[in-house]
Amino acid sequence: MTTWDDAWPATPWEGGWHRAAHRLESPNHGVRPAAAQAIDLIVVHSISLPPGEFGTGAVQQLFTNTLDWDAHPYYQGIRGLQVSAHFFIDRTGVPWQFVDCDLRAWHAGQSFYRGRAQCNDDSIGIELEGLEGLGFEAVQYQTLARLCQDIAQRYPIEHVAGHEHIAPGRKQDPGPGFDWAHLRRTLGWPRHQFPPAPLPATPPFR
Ligand SMILES: [Zn+2]
Repeated sequence: MTTWDDAWPATPWEGGWHRAAHRLESPNHGVRPAAAQAIDLIVVHSISLPPGEFGTGAVQQLFTNTLDWDAHPYYQGIRGLQVSAHFFIDRTGVPWQFVDCDLRAWHAGQSFYRGRAQCNDDSIGIELEGLEGLGFEAVQYQTLARLCQDIAQRYPIEHVAGHEHIAPGRKQDPGPGFDWAHLRRTLGWPRHQFPPAPLPATPPFR
């Protein structure tokens, strides 16, 4: 059977655009500050619009400022929001790209990680279609891992973290349904490049 991922390109990059991704350019981006450090962080997020509904096309509309705010009551609370991510991976594993990876996308907000603030300046944001607390599809992990590998070919990636790790207390995505160990094993990257495992709820009793 032929699937979309058989066509994963051997030469993935055309500038900061990935050839495997559906390209939908977002106006929500800017240049990375001249003083920015190396792009060494991949930030993993989750999103679905309306929350918990998949395949609606609304995330793509949000990231391109074409969402009809009156189409769903939930959108009242995010009316006018201008955000983006470099990539969005839908539930079928298909990757979409909104911002050139050389440029600054608007996914992290107020954030701090590996001793640096304003993570949008020097990170690449990948959104997984999903809902905090729920799991993700095997094909989404597959696409995520391939993207991470290709990104690491082009940028000096040293860290992969969730939005919840770079904006703790403010953000909860991708949430407990995301399997960090699975991503780590698939990539084969060292443990220290990933967020520390959460502390056990009950300390081990000896
Ligand atoms: Zn997020």
